[in-house]
Amino acid sequence: MIKAERVTSAQFLIKLGFRQRIVSQVTLLTTSQVRKLFDECAYRGVEVKKHSGPPPTAASIVRETGNSLEASFLMLCYTRTLDPDRYSNNVDVIEYIRAYDEYINLRNQNKHYFESIKPIDISDGFVLAESLRNPDSDTGASMLDCPHCSCKFYNPISQYRINTRCSWCNSVYC
Ligand SMILES: [Zn+2]
Repeated sequence: MIKAERVTSAQFLIKLGFRQRIVSQVTLLTTSQVRKLFDECAYRGVEVKKHSGPPPTAASIVRETGNSLEASFLMLCYTRTLDPDRYSNNVDVIEYIRAYDEYINLRNQNKHYFESIKPIDISDGFVLAESLRNPDSDTGASMLDCPHCSCKFYNPISQYRINTRCSWCNSVYC
């Protein structure tokens, strides 16, 4: 990617609501270049989510009430059309953006199911997608097949230490 393309990609990601770390990581622009683009976008009235602190972990995102269901839903949208090789080596950002859009649309169509819960933030969802790359580490996660309802659900590895429950039917996974 030449620099002008990276800048255009970065502006696109900023408008979608991605945080600084992810924009920098995806476009390979430096932190200061990305920071400048955030400031320019904010100056033009775009609502930006700068958030330059440390990223949350997959387990902490899922621990929030109701987020296990949201995480499984979003990660199913993301992985359903992909070969595991595609998401276990890298985050396919184009596929991820498509999946996030699908997740929000399906969620809006099934509001009664999700009513009391906010959708997962686009950057938090990216952290979940990243976690699928390292299923053996503490920050990793995998898609598990529930033996009770046969649905796939998302599970951060560190959750194994507590009870692992299926996001859909709430059965204990063992
Ligand atoms: Zn289940």
